[in-house]
Amino acid sequence: MLSAEGFYYCELSSSLSQKQKCIMDQREGQDYLTMYPKLRHWINQCVACQIQGYKPEMPEQIYPGVAARHLRRYFRPLAVDELGLCSQCREALDVLTPSKP
Ligand SMILES: [Zn+2]
Repeated sequence: MLSAEGFYYCELSSSLSQKQKCIMDQREGQDYLTMYPKLRHWINQCVACQIQGYKPEMPEQIYPGVAARHLRRYFRPLAVDELGLCSQCREALDVLTPSKP
């Protein structure tokens, strides 16, 4: 049985137990993707830190109905730029390579 309360973002998890829970959610998410490989279509993965998340443009409902809800349960929204970088890695890159005046 899945509940929405169990879901929170990794970076917001302060305690070790919460982090472990978060890692377990990611593992369950991987199992879920293994069961429904077609749902990988809705998953973004950062090329740098390898973090996975669902595409922000994912619709409310995708076949088979509950799939979108489950993806939202297991993953967080993750937008990647044209290089395939998540926003955190993008920011890190921007800090390392300041734009020229
Ligand atoms: Zn990243």
